[in-house]
Amino acid sequence: MNGRPLLNRRLEGLGTTIFAEMSALAVETGAINLGQGFPDTDGPESVREAAVRALRDGRGNQYPPGAGVPELRAAIAEHQRRFYGLEFDPDTEVLVTAGATEAIAAAMLALLEPGDEVIAFEPFYDSYAASIAMAGGVRVPLTLRAPDFRPDLDALRAAVTPRTRLLLLNSPHNPTGMVLTRDELTAIAQLAVERDLLVVTDEVYEHLVFDGEHTPLISLPGMRDRTVSISSAGKTFSFTGWKVGWVTGSPELVAAVRTTKQFLTYVASGPFQYAIAEALALPDPYYAAFRDDLRTKRDLLDAGLRDAGFQVYEPQGTYFITTDITPFGETDALTFCRTLPTRAGVVAVPNSVFYDHPTAGRTQVRFAFCKQHAVLTEAASRLRKAFGG
Ligand code: PMP
Ligand code: GLN
Repeated sequence: MNGRPLLNRRLEGLGTTIFAEMSALAVETGAINLGQGFPDTDGPESVREAAVRALRDGRGNQYPPGAGVPELRAAIAEHQRRFYGLEFDPDTEVLVTAGATEAIAAAMLALLEPGDEVIAFEPFYDSYAASIAMAGGVRVPLTLRAPDFRPDLDALRAAVTPRTRLLLLNSPHNPTGMVLTRDELTAIAQLAVERDLLVVTDEVYEHLVFDGEHTPLISLPGMRDRTVSISSAGKTFSFTGWKVGWVTGSPELVAAVRTTKQFLTYVASGPFQYAIAEALALPDPYYAAFRDDLRTKRDLLDAGLRDAGFQVYEPQGTYFITTDITPFGETDALTFCRTLPTRAGVVAVPNSVFYDHPTAGRTQVRFAFCKQHAVLTEAASRLRKAFGG
């Protein structure tokens, strides 16, 4: 083809996602998959039944409305009111998307001009680099450093230039498990107002905070009209395959994101939208039990990894634990993860691929703990055998 690479230059090097690579390795080797973040137990039976009912009753089997079915938009608005005291008009300030992934891509495509700079904390979730690149934006990484992975707010301030269009924030943060504090969020909000920046917040782990609490940035002074707040049902209700996500924000921002979203998928997940509307209305004990169960799993895997000799950075939120493999004399997380299934019968993900900085995450490896207790116990025992003294 005229000697030109087929993939356009903006996406050069993006290749296959690390999650796909590592999950394929798990299938190939039969190793326990603590790589890609998906639960090994489906979400509530009542929610699954709600999806079946919707399918049978013919709700959502044909194109739902572009912005999402009214029942789900109302449930999202109610969720924001119930947990955060935030008011959104379900008709103009809520948009249903094909997972948070589409919401992030649609937001970048809607809000960026080529050359606009996007500041994001690294390590970043892999779709950020791709979405910014597809929109022709320039990503400006701000490195979160072990052991606490707290953001350097002075460095953030210094990173803002006249070309900065938006901040892309993720809290609770994948993969480090860092949760931004109210003070940090307040400082970020003040900066955004001062420098007239938009902020896109990825809050898919909003209900998985073990220490502290989740505060949506959009709730802080000056942020209501400059924040695109994104979340998703996948994590909260353990149905990652349903791909129901959403955006809340001002009518203007939601309209902008809707414009690009309608040409990406137009709509998705018809019957599942009705089921997630019911899921969001589950009573508080559901949310508390979900978080408490994951906290127990975090503690189980955390202890197991320490026992095996990993340096462990305890996460405050999400369902991931970042570790360091330096204690084993290892120097490269990607090589380590490619050989881990044969060495120990466990799959993990190298954080190094989530950094632009060439050495910052070189020896960091992420383990997912959204798995059954017995699976985590077995994985920990295998790692202890392979690495422990
Ligand atoms: N953001 C973060 C930080 C994630 O970890 C994930 C993982 N699933 C997503 C977005 C994507 O969410 P969804 O599956 O709803 O597209
Ligand atoms: N969010 C999941 C993770 O971080 C993966 C989602 C995906 O495979 N794209 O593991």
